[in-house]
Amino acid sequence: MSTQAVAWALCLGAAISLAPAARAAEPVDSRALPAPGASRDVPVATDVRVGGDDKQTRFILDLSQKIDLAAFTLADPYRVVVDVPQVTFKLPAKAGDQGRGLVKAFRYGLIMQGGSRIVIDTKGPVRIDKAFTLDAADGQPARLVLDLVATDRDSFLRTIALANKPTRTAARNSGPAPKDDNDPRPLIVLDPGHGGIDTGTKGLNGENEKEVVLAFAQTLRDKLLVSNKYRVVLTRDDDTFIPLNERVRFARQRGAALFISVHADSIPRSEGQAEGATVYTLSEHASDAEAARLAESENRADVIAGVDLTAEPNDVANILVDLAQRETKTFSLQFARSAVGELKSTARLHRNPLKSAGFVVLRAPDVPSVLVELGYMSTKDDLKALTSPAWRAKTADALAQAVDTFFGPRLAAGAGGAAR
Ligand SMILES: [Zn+2]
Repeated sequence: MSTQAVAWALCLGAAISLAPAARAAEPVDSRALPAPGASRDVPVATDVRVGGDDKQTRFILDLSQKIDLAAFTLADPYRVVVDVPQVTFKLPAKAGDQGRGLVKAFRYGLIMQGGSRIVIDTKGPVRIDKAFTLDAADGQPARLVLDLVATDRDSFLRTIALANKPTRTAARNSGPAPKDDNDPRPLIVLDPGHGGIDTGTKGLNGENEKEVVLAFAQTLRDKLLVSNKYRVVLTRDDDTFIPLNERVRFARQRGAALFISVHADSIPRSEGQAEGATVYTLSEHASDAEAARLAESENRADVIAGVDLTAEPNDVANILVDLAQRETKTFSLQFARSAVGELKSTARLHRNPLKSAGFVVLRAPDVPSVLVELGYMSTKDDLKALTSPAWRAKTADALAQAVDTFFGPRLAAGAGGAAR
């Protein structure tokens, strides 16, 4: 996929410069703030230093103990990715916002259960000259050391082609086992966007989209479970990064009957004010410029976390062919309409609340899928709503109602036919 060649979307640009993932943000809801790495044996990163110039730069991370590491480079934008076991980052505020020498900026955070990642944006193509960790010695803590040297684009690309065995995030196995044939209730997969190293967009006071949407998805799950009519699982129930394709695979493998991805948007002040919720379905032709901009930015999650999209099996291309699967498309639209109808009475809606665009997470050919943008983190009133438990409960009720409307006829038919 060539999205990497496209210019940074503004809202993600903001996410990157503002937010090392592990920095404490305003608590949104205590339930929404998992404590990754809270256990005693998790190594702690206590400080970080970057030194050197445009030819040679050294990155040093102080640690409570020596750890293993795997480092590799990615292009467009130029990045160095360092994969380590789960680390608790207790770095100074704003660490990573500004670099030095070849390092433009860096971010860090949990990428999966048991694994953390540091992603370093570099000013140009670099070669990893050395990457190692040292035991504590001579009054110095254990350290992770990374030496980068400037190189030219051709050599950089050659190194990637030869050496990089891009890390593949293992399929997550939270939730029930794939496809439980013994349980006839429809399975709904809720997909809180972003997570871990990818914070999503930022609110006016530093709130993270990843926390807002997780809290919402958890509330919606609880509402849906009350009736006992559905099985409900979340693609993530904690602060973990999950690549976009993995989210789609998660829903397909489990035979989901409905997939709801939950996000919150943000637009730069210069583009004026925007407010309210929007429900998106998949289309290769975005319904308007804002929809195109948003899909572009949401699809960049993998770039933020340093996942090499080019290494993914080409599900997306194959799935585009399958877009002709009209039934899935029709069901998706049906649910989206019903969601907008229900939200109308409880939440503020965007002036044009039903849209379509090419979101990667909506590309399962056989699972009706929608993406709900709850509102704008960049708009004061929206943000107030998004972070309020009362609004969350009310809005989750509306969506649960839309789910009932969507499944109602089918469940009724199923109940009649399944008398054994
Ligand atoms: Zn998002």
